[in-house]
Amino acid sequence: MKTILSFGGGVNSTAILALCSLKELPWPDLIIFSDTGAEWPHTYKYIDYLEKKGIQITRLTGGDKYMDLIEFCQLKKIIPSRVNRWCTDHFKRIPINYFVRSLNGDSEHWIGFDFGETKRMEGRRKKGFRFPLFELRIDRIGCEKIIRKAGWGVPKKSGCFICPFQRKSQWIELKKNHPDLWKIAVDLEREQVKYHSKHMTYIKNMMIEKFVSDLDAQIELPFDFSLDQKCECYFD
Ligand code: SF4
Repeated sequence: MKTILSFGGGVNSTAILALCSLKELPWPDLIIFSDTGAEWPHTYKYIDYLEKKGIQITRLTGGDKYMDLIEFCQLKKIIPSRVNRWCTDHFKRIPINYFVRSLNGDSEHWIGFDFGETKRMEGRRKKGFRFPLFELRIDRIGCEKIIRKAGWGVPKKSGCFICPFQRKSQWIELKKNHPDLWKIAVDLEREQVKYHSKHMTYIKNMMIEKFVSDLDAQIELPFDFSLDQKCECYFD
């Protein structure tokens, strides 16, 4: 039976690799990363960092009809949605499931839910899946400890730079440190509002430019959208 780790370039799936490196888990036969084409630069850098350590990571690209997430959004004039999580299906789940199915023989698919994620586990304990961190009762803090124990740097949170589940601080960081990517995100949202609904913005009922400029001006916002709500991409 082949073991396959869904790797997202974030803390949890890196902790699984660290456990393998520490010989507390067997090394998986395949480590797969479904690249949306819109991942944060730090995620790509971290994957390069692990590859330089000799870790082989299979990158799945293509997403929907050979377009990446940015190209797809530009074509359709849409942005990822907090409600209808189509991006996770098209650019994470489907490419990975398709790849797993294309392998001959039985396989065991490892997912990086940690012990603090009981809610995300609901309905997902299916045949062919395994949740090593959950089984070993390792939470997010434990994940970071294990990564350090393996002698590796702890990655930043993975995800797309146009993700509507991002925290305020990530939007601010995007504008400040990656103005080219910030422009892509802003342009996509403008198109979405122009061609579809003005209510479907990254942040509820507010354009991201206004949201971040209000934060820049340190205006007290009457609400807090910085929910620590996780996106459905379970490959962190
Ligand atoms: S990280 Fe966010 S934008 Fe990217 S695929 Fe997942 S839910 Fe969609």
